[in-house]
Amino acid sequence: MLSAEAGDTMLCFRCGSACTPEDARTVDGEPVCLTCLYGDVKPVMVYPIGVVKNDRRRNEKGFGSSSPTRSDTSEIHLHPGMAPFMKGLEDESHLVVVWQAHRPRGVKTIFARGWDGKRVGPFASRTPDRLSPIAITEVVLLEAEGTVLSVRGLDAINGTPVLDIKMSLSHPRPKPRK
Ligand SMILES: [Zn+2]
Repeated sequence: MLSAEAGDTMLCFRCGSACTPEDARTVDGEPVCLTCLYGDVKPVMVYPIGVVKNDRRRNEKGFGSSSPTRSDTSEIHLHPGMAPFMKGLEDESHLVVVWQAHRPRGVKTIFARGWDGKRVGPFASRTPDRLSPIAITEVVLLEAEGTVLSVRGLDAINGTPVLDIKMSLSHPRPKPRK
């Protein structure tokens, strides 16, 4: 198990090389080194633009609160530095929120997905326990007050880093006549 203290050395379950918790991921409960997973690809760095504030906590099953409902409301507190980039946002009825699943518990290669119980891998599911802990949720925009957005339907827990916000192509506003 990859429950070791930072700095501890363990052996990659696939190649047997020594690795630390920082340069390994937990896959099916075993450490797998970054080289086995990704080869020599370099990581991508993204700065969060804000944080989710709500009363949702991570439960044992995975997503969101113990009784996730799509009617939950959350606030997205954008960093004040985002203010110049918000023009027109308040006119949108829906937004796409890109967020970091920041409380991962290790990746499983095959599991019963929550949607229908079918046995699948992470790429055929929306589990937050994935190699690239990025989640995308379409939300209803209720209110935009300064750099604080009130939204409905965000299945992210309290404290979740928000990586980006985009217009929704599922609910686009009609284009104005020119
Ligand atoms: Zn390895």
